[in-house]
Amino acid sequence: MRITFWGAARTVTGSMHEVQVNGRRYLLDCGLYQGRRKEATERNSVFPFTPSSIDGVILSHAHLDHSGNLPTLAKKGFAGPIYTTPATIDLCDAMLKDSGHIQEKDAAWLNKRHFRRKALEVASNNGEVQPLYTMEDAERVMKLFEPVSIAAPKVLNPALSYEACDAGHILGSTAVVLHCQENGKLIRTAYSGDIGRHNQAIIRDPDSMPAVDYLIMESTYGDRLHKDVDTVSNKLADIVSRTCGRGGKIIVPAFAVGRTQQLVYLLHELSNQQRIPSVPIFVDSPLAVDVTAIFRKHAECFDAEAREFLLRGEDPFGFKLLRYIKDVGESKALNDLRGPFIIISASGMCEAGRILHHLKNNIEDPRNTVLVTGFMAENTLGRKIVDKLAEVPIFGELVRLRAEVVKLNELSGHADQRELLEWLKPMAKSLKKVFLVHGEAAQSAALAKAIGEQYGIETVVPERGESAELV
Ligand SMILES: [Zn+2]
Repeated sequence: MRITFWGAARTVTGSMHEVQVNGRRYLLDCGLYQGRRKEATERNSVFPFTPSSIDGVILSHAHLDHSGNLPTLAKKGFAGPIYTTPATIDLCDAMLKDSGHIQEKDAAWLNKRHFRRKALEVASNNGEVQPLYTMEDAERVMKLFEPVSIAAPKVLNPALSYEACDAGHILGSTAVVLHCQENGKLIRTAYSGDIGRHNQAIIRDPDSMPAVDYLIMESTYGDRLHKDVDTVSNKLADIVSRTCGRGGKIIVPAFAVGRTQQLVYLLHELSNQQRIPSVPIFVDSPLAVDVTAIFRKHAECFDAEAREFLLRGEDPFGFKLLRYIKDVGESKALNDLRGPFIIISASGMCEAGRILHHLKNNIEDPRNTVLVTGFMAENTLGRKIVDKLAEVPIFGELVRLRAEVVKLNELSGHADQRELLEWLKPMAKSLKKVFLVHGEAAQSAALAKAIGEQYGIETVVPERGESAELV
């Protein structure tokens, strides 16, 4: 079995790894690469292999950095099945269409601004910028999805089968264990996808992994230790109270999937406990509204506490202070509304979506707070805000950043170093080698060192395009 690391190699976006076995080719994930526009356009639109030669895709979870380039793959000739969990299929249906819509809008905006288009050199032959894919392309790729439940063994061909384990990262997220029969020998390889944390709101904890020979593992927070969940609630209550006290607004860029529902759930708890002032909370993201409906549909993925919420007849994702906004007009009306209030909006890394308007309208006012709840990749607007640059570019204009910026990393859906090492433990004895992906250089290096020290397993951080023969 041969594995080639095509994406999320020494970076956190664009997850994509190619598995070759007995002349067949499969992909583990096919994520969207995010970063500088020119580079992202190239990376996402040109595949380093012929898409029609891929026999199938095993998708770990619905986040766009793992699923977001599937429509391009299909547009360029891929016609095989995409295996993933039923919840992931429903989430992808909402998210990929939304992504297609954003790509279309983005291309239209660039086409209006000729000078930008020229500067970025992203125009096609006829001088028009084409979207990476459209909503229609996204609709088309959904026909290729095939549901595979957690713990249900799936045979792809006589040489390759796999089983999915709950990764505890977002609704429907999985780590997968590949079973490859080659030359009469069984080789077991685990791919982590993204690994979640124990005791996260709503979803179940990560499953304990079986013994395997090789492991491809994420390392997003390979060098960090998160605070526990109680600290998160306290910190969140503090931030909300402090900002409301000075009459400010709390602007929260959040992934529409997972982070938004978690925040709503925590705010619901804090409000029940009267630990935050009674201010309006708006979830301003059509995608988050659709995704919340999908969460409601997939209670089979919930942990015991969230199921108890349902048994009490309460709605974990709805309470009287909370309003979901789909309509553009209502979203715009928020601009004229005086604080204090909370807006949760997407996209998570502030690269697109309604969050851009809210940031543009609010970050110049020092009474306001930008609450950062997730990892911000290099070169994204979100990262510039976390780094507290004096001015940040929004819609091509520089805007002064005078609002308070607070990080709440603890809400992260990603395990920290200690949790990653703990997750690896059941596999440690049988492992011959670990490949670290999905991490920036310093994070991966720190985790590689820790794995070596704790378990004595050879650990490498492959570069993009690097291959390894697993025997
Ligand atoms: Zn993820």
